[in-house]
Amino acid sequence: MKTCMGCGAQSYRIESKFCQKCGRELPTEENSPNINICTNTDCVWNKSKFIYPDDARFCDVCGSPTAYAK
Ligand SMILES: [Zn+2]
Ligand SMILES: [Zn+2]
Repeated sequence: MKTCMGCGAQSYRIESKFCQKCGRELPTEENSPNINICTNTDCVWNKSKFIYPDDARFCDVCGSPTAYAK
């Protein structure tokens, strides 16, 4: 879930890039510690912003630690 920094509206769609209410650009996954993604920027899962379960510690494609592994 992303929260708009402008009006506080929340978007449940991870693909959302802009706020539905005010049009402000939403924070990216890199700025949000609440999403467990692969930390390897060359990894296809990182590029596609695939979200791992909270208990996942390593990417199953490239073996890099996920965001929650730190
Ligand atoms: Zn907004
Ligand atoms: Zn990966």
